[in-house]
Amino acid sequence: MLAASVVAVILLVSITASYMQARELADHRKAVIKTQHLITLLTRLESSMYMLESLQRGYLITGKRRYLGPYDESKASVFKLYDSVLLLMAGKENQEKRLRSMRKHMTDKFSELDLTIDLRKRGRYEEARNLVLIDQGQHEMLAFIEELRALKKEANRILRIQSSKLEAAATEALNRLYILSGISLVAFFAGLHFINKVAAARRQTQLAQLTLFEISSIMATAEGLSDSLRGILADICDIYSWPVGVFWRADEAGEHLLLGEFYSIEPYPELNRQMSSLKIAPGQGLCGRVWSHGKSEWVQDISRDRQALIVDQARADGLHASFAFPVKFGETFIGVFEFLSGKVERPDNDVMEAFSVIGSEIGQLVARREIEDRLQLSLAEEAKAKGVLDSVLDNMGSGVIFVDIDRRFRIFNKAAERILGPGSRNRSPEEWYERIRSEDGKKQIPMEELPMVAAMSGKSVSNKVYMIKGDEDDVLINVNARPVYDLEGGIIGGVVVVDDVTARIQAEQRVSEFYSMVSHELRTPLTSIKGSLGLLEGGKGGELSDRGKRLVTMGRQECDRLVRLINDILDIRKIEAGKLELERKSVVPSVIVAEAIEALSAYAAEHNVRIEASDLVIEPIIADRDRIAQVLINLISNAVKFSPEGGVVRVSSSLKRDRVRIEVKDQGPGISEQDQNKLFRKFQQVNSTDSRPKGGTGLGLAICKALVEQHQGKIGLVSAPGAGSIFWFEIARENVDDQSD
Ligand code: ADP
Repeated sequence: MLAASVVAVILLVSITASYMQARELADHRKAVIKTQHLITLLTRLESSMYMLESLQRGYLITGKRRYLGPYDESKASVFKLYDSVLLLMAGKENQEKRLRSMRKHMTDKFSELDLTIDLRKRGRYEEARNLVLIDQGQHEMLAFIEELRALKKEANRILRIQSSKLEAAATEALNRLYILSGISLVAFFAGLHFINKVAAARRQTQLAQLTLFEISSIMATAEGLSDSLRGILADICDIYSWPVGVFWRADEAGEHLLLGEFYSIEPYPELNRQMSSLKIAPGQGLCGRVWSHGKSEWVQDISRDRQALIVDQARADGLHASFAFPVKFGETFIGVFEFLSGKVERPDNDVMEAFSVIGSEIGQLVARREIEDRLQLSLAEEAKAKGVLDSVLDNMGSGVIFVDIDRRFRIFNKAAERILGPGSRNRSPEEWYERIRSEDGKKQIPMEELPMVAAMSGKSVSNKVYMIKGDEDDVLINVNARPVYDLEGGIIGGVVVVDDVTARIQAEQRVSEFYSMVSHELRTPLTSIKGSLGLLEGGKGGELSDRGKRLVTMGRQECDRLVRLINDILDIRKIEAGKLELERKSVVPSVIVAEAIEALSAYAAEHNVRIEASDLVIEPIIADRDRIAQVLINLISNAVKFSPEGGVVRVSSSLKRDRVRIEVKDQGPGISEQDQNKLFRKFQQVNSTDSRPKGGTGLGLAICKALVEQHQGKIGLVSAPGAGSIFWFEIARENVDDQSD
């Protein structure tokens, strides 16, 4: 643009100068012509005067009238010439003065001439001749000629001056013309160069635009990234007539460039093969350099680039120049495009510049396509995962429902439809409200307590049984509901898992009925059997033989065992059915321990075992006194049972922050780690090395665990074979906030 303005200014100045020069020159010429014209007029005036005089003489001498016509004409012409001279001299005072005196001489001369002609016409020849002879007319004529010559001389002088001025002006004009021509020539070539450059730039811009257009249409239509890159290579090669185009892609680790795509107009198999096995480090070869400095680079002749890779093959294939530019997305480097040319080509800055832009455009497109490809992949994966999830959900036995925050069912699997009845997916919350009842079917559930509503307001529902009022049969469902949160912790819905527990609950009811029947039907006769045997044992039925006594005692003991077994089974049932209700009160541990020891004193004596209590805690706990006593008695009786004869069982208690820990320690055989895990399960008895029969049901520890846990406490043991056992349990203290260690 600047160059264009400079050329324009130069041309403008030149044209103005030439114009002014031409005008000056024209003025000079006009003056010269005017003076020359004046001189001509004066000369003609002079000769006309002489002519006039000759014609007068001719007539006077010959008296022939043929002189008279030309004489009149000459006179008229003298006047005309005089007027012309007067016109040319207008405004020039000196000359005008001269002309005025010339006019006077001229008219005087004419009077003399006319008079002589007139006399001759009338035949007075002599008079006329005398007039000529007195030379009066000659005098006027000479005065006239003198004036005229003076004028002519002056005119000649002026002409000389004017001519030299004209010459000087012409020379100067010529010189200026040379200079101007020079300048114009320079300006012309500069303009030509400029126009060429602009045209070349425009051509490059057009090529670049064409390239960009082609690239973006490829990106819009090609199937995958690889197709797109091949398309770009092919297009650039076509547009710029480069035979080979390569895309080098940075590897995952960003340590090397590997061959991404290879395109050539004709096949170059060996070059392709060699490039495929290349691993280009940053700074290595043209592409490595482009990677390092991040700008496009042109190698005019690859055989002169000492760092060039695969030169021999490229030259064998007739490739000489190479051009590469980086592909970046923002600051992220993606790869390098490289093109090889068959000619030794000079670097073209415009092309390089255009490709810096193209590089970043391609970068953006590549990045976008990569994201699209990844998105496509993840959509496919998601669809697959959703398919898997759907089939898992549909094949589940439990009903799964997910409701979003807009109260739309997003998941409602087949089991949910089956359990809750056909069409339940389309029921409104109000309809659900109508249908859901308490387990016994009597009470309606408040709206906000409905599992789905509770879950969506951030509450959880665990293992609650409800009745769904059906059109024909009622269904009992066990429900778990949880709120569902997004990553920021906002509630996005609620998930509800329902299980049809109708059959189970009915079976449980039957079992429960059976148990109460059994307990009643068995315990009643057992109690009377036990009573009768007790009476017999006490001799109320008469004196028994020793053998008879032993048999009765055995019978009574088995009765006791049966009663215990029935009691244990009933306890376990109750606990498992969640029907064991605790009567929690403030209880002092030391008191319970003392009572338990007391209750077992006879049993201990029977086994020849001593029970000792130590460090007894007097801080109260909140517990069901009878149930804790039951646990304690169970543990102490086990300890006694497994103690060696003469052994000691130690019962101690201690404070543990918010809890009280009670321990029962014996000197028995101890329990292997492997057996320890089984002990608290129902009906588990561990084989002891001691082969003495210990009696028991295998339910004691299971009941202890259930009871302690019902108190939100913990139970456990520390034992090793041969080292005795310590059974312990912990119960929360009164008035101490619940804290965990
Ligand atoms: P049981 O009524 O058979 O005693 P428990 O559940 O109370 O049932 O005990 C289960 C088993 O745990 C016992 O049969 C015994 O093998 C083992 N066991 C319980 N307490 C002790 C102990 N103090 N020392 C060694 N083994 C014990």
